Amino acid sequence: MKYYSTNGQVPPATLQEAVLKGLADDNGLYMPERIPLLSDNFFASLHQKTLQEAALEVAAALFGDDIAASPLREMVYGALSFDIPLVQVADNLYGLELFHGPTMAFKDVGARFLARMMQHITRNEKDEINVLVATSGDTGSAVANGFLGVEGVTVTVLYPKGLVSKIQEAQFTTLGQNICAVEVEGTFDDCQRLVKQAFLDKELNARRRLTSANSINLARFIPQAFYYFWGWAQMPQGSEVVVCVPGGNFGNLTAGLIAKRMGLPIKHFVAANNANDIFLKYLQTAEFSPRPSIATIANAMDVGNPSNFARIMDLYGGNHAKVAADISGYSYSDAQIREVVKRTFDEAKYMLDPHGACAYEALREHLKRDKRRDKKTTGIFLETAHPAKFKETMDNILNADIAVPQKLQAFMSGQKQAVGMSSRYEDFRDLLLKRF
Ligand SMILES: *Cc1c(COP(=O)(O)O)cnc(C)c1O
Repeated sequence: MKYYSTNGQVPPATLQEAVLKGLADDNGLYMPERIPLLSDNFFASLHQKTLQEAALEVAAALFGDDIAASPLREMVYGALSFDIPLVQVADNLYGLELFHGPTMAFKDVGARFLARMMQHITRNEKDEINVLVATSGDTGSAVANGFLGVEGVTVTVLYPKGLVSKIQEAQFTTLGQNICAVEVEGTFDDCQRLVKQAFLDKELNARRRLTSANSINLARFIPQAFYYFWGWAQMPQGSEVVVCVPGGNFGNLTAGLIAKRMGLPIKHFVAANNANDIFLKYLQTAEFSPRPSIATIANAMDVGNPSNFARIMDLYGGNHAKVAADISGYSYSDAQIREVVKRTFDEAKYMLDPHGACAYEALREHLKRDKRRDKKTTGIFLETAHPAKFKETMDNILNADIAVPQKLQAFMSGQKQAVGMSSRYEDFRDLLLKRF
């Protein structure tokens, strides 16, 4: 399978090229040339499959030309080594809990798959691969934990000193092994500038094999399609299923659209925004107007220029009417998110995190409005993070001291191992040359 750039200015890439590059040279995002349709047999037996079995069949349809059966199996089973339970929250509303991985957020799925894919496609190279990542918090933890212990790959995480939360910092500074955390005297923008400059440094690149692992990488985005199949198959049979996704860069929603193109009978999608409602505005007006993001309590959705919008346009040939026929949008202020978290906890005894709360409420509103019901319509909302990751916000909303799972506590009790560094490029360059 070849992968083309959504900007169409460069020739199609192989899987290996697309994964190691991340972004195409014309700044487009990679898309598969073909989206395979899965067989009726596959769907007929989907209810009996485990998450990993279902995911492997989907992965084989997409990557089977390029990766042999046995390594692909290891990749899928290794990446999805945790449960993704579907939990009934209200009469016709179900939450797909994507937060049971190592960092307790859904980004674990994509990051773990990407790590294994990278290891596989570079297995015959003698040089170690150095993944460079700048983070303002969440990406660093998912990528570092995704690559932890993966042979032949090291990860350098740059983060701004004092500007990430304690729990986020603990999730990438306490790991050791092949993960190096660099605490930069500067801002997130400084961290990003250092990483960009390293990629452009010809001499450094001649001596070190550098790559990125950012969220637009096709091997992070595609595996998110796997759990849509699994979630759908767990729903009561005979119901029509609507899926609601809380969006930031909209990789997660786009993966759902790919699953639908592969034949998964999802009736409709609902996109939930916080106050950063750029996608909702697009659905309402056909105008895509990126603008600076605003800080909210659902901060992983604070994106002013969603990068995967390009992929959605590509899937629909830029046809707004077709996009709007498949996807509805809703947005929520911080005050509304708080109210939803509180109400759902009081009434349904279910603790939503602020991101999942946007999705839950958007789905609820949508199903209430959608009166044309020949068959019973049911909905799945994606619960993308464990509430304890936002403990301060949650405690404040619920007026409680919510429990922190053992998995998150373990990070907090680990020993911080970060290298301090200025924001000068020369220092970063020295560090990369010395360390590896
Ligand atoms: C990243 C993230 C999102 C947004 O996902 P996108 O794929 O960027 O749209 C939503 N919720 C949580 C908890 C996240 O970490």
